[in-house]
Amino acid sequence: MVDRVGLIYTDEYQKYNFGKDHPFRPLRLKFTYSLMDKLNLLNSSRLEIIKPRMATNNELERIHSLEYVNIVRKLSENPRDNTISPYIYGLGPGDTPAFEGMYEASALVCGASILAAEKVWNEEDFKVSFNPAGGLHHALRNKASGFCIFNDIGVAIKHLQNLQKDIRIAYLDIDCHHGDGVQWLFYDDPNVLKISFHQDGRFLFPGTGFINENGEGKGKGYSINFPLLPSTNNKNFINLFRKTVPKLLEAYSPDILFTQLGVDTYFNDPLTEMGLSIAAYRDIAQTIKTSAREFCQNRWVAFGGGGYLISVVPRAWTLFLAKMLDVQLKNELPDSWIKEIKENVPYEETPYLLWDRGEKIEVQMLSHPEIAKKITDYTKSLIEISNEKYLPNLIKP
Ligand SMILES: [Zn+2]
Repeated sequence: MVDRVGLIYTDEYQKYNFGKDHPFRPLRLKFTYSLMDKLNLLNSSRLEIIKPRMATNNELERIHSLEYVNIVRKLSENPRDNTISPYIYGLGPGDTPAFEGMYEASALVCGASILAAEKVWNEEDFKVSFNPAGGLHHALRNKASGFCIFNDIGVAIKHLQNLQKDIRIAYLDIDCHHGDGVQWLFYDDPNVLKISFHQDGRFLFPGTGFINENGEGKGKGYSINFPLLPSTNNKNFINLFRKTVPKLLEAYSPDILFTQLGVDTYFNDPLTEMGLSIAAYRDIAQTIKTSAREFCQNRWVAFGGGGYLISVVPRAWTLFLAKMLDVQLKNELPDSWIKEIKENVPYEETPYLLWDRGEKIEVQMLSHPEIAKKITDYTKSLIEISNEKYLPNLIKP
């Protein structure tokens, strides 16, 4: 039996749109799909493209309050409804502005994440599924936050918990921003292991994700945070990732792995200050895939997330899909895709290769040897913290 991969996709994702000047642009998804197509990944016999449905109110209310769901619905009908104070709910002008149709668009993303989770949980031949529109990890029970209206990851976790009460889920988040929403929603739940790698909250939204945020009550020890210094490069990130993630997952040995694959750790990302290049994501994808197979019952559900360069996100997520399908891609881009990017985002640097290496950031770091050393030493100290502080909590005596 050949392992199959589910890609949850629809053009309707374009409706999750805060407007043309907002950085979280659904065009990212369109060009991701287009690149996957042009590189012949979409006609792989192992791939099934699945059209999502909207999540129902019942499904949303396992995570969000009835009050909040109703507010989103009302503002979705009329974003200028002046009987509502949107700010109380994290909506309104700012990061996460209300827009017409946002209820349907957000419920669709949640439905897609439910389908992704269900596919891998219920169907023996599907080992991996990917919802690139998902990963809205900041949304809270009563509140939108950081471009996230409903927390699709939380909704999908609750969906599986509803199918099997004692299911153990590991949630791994590599977005440059701390996966705060998922952490707080399951802070006291030992059956959801939360691991987040992100730029240190002292320097970046949402300002959380510190080493001492470990969980509470029965969930103590099941929230794990790796706050990283700005400019952390491929070498340091990959070393830390390889030396911690497989061990933590092995110790926890979940029934299924969820990953949030935000790629805003890219060195040129306009919203963040990290130092990864696309080559790093190939390596990360390999580590995740191997760990899922060896330690997570070979079940992997992937979601998208942040990433604010339209010329970068599609290349990174295409590499993730290629890894899921065990396809080796060459380091080149189809001319027709380059043309699409040139025409649609002329203000971004035109890419010519599928992945760029770490050279640019390495050169920058070489010109600041004392900073480079500080980052290397600090990242190594995180490996020690993981081994000495995080890991023992997961190993049953
Ligand atoms: Zn992010």
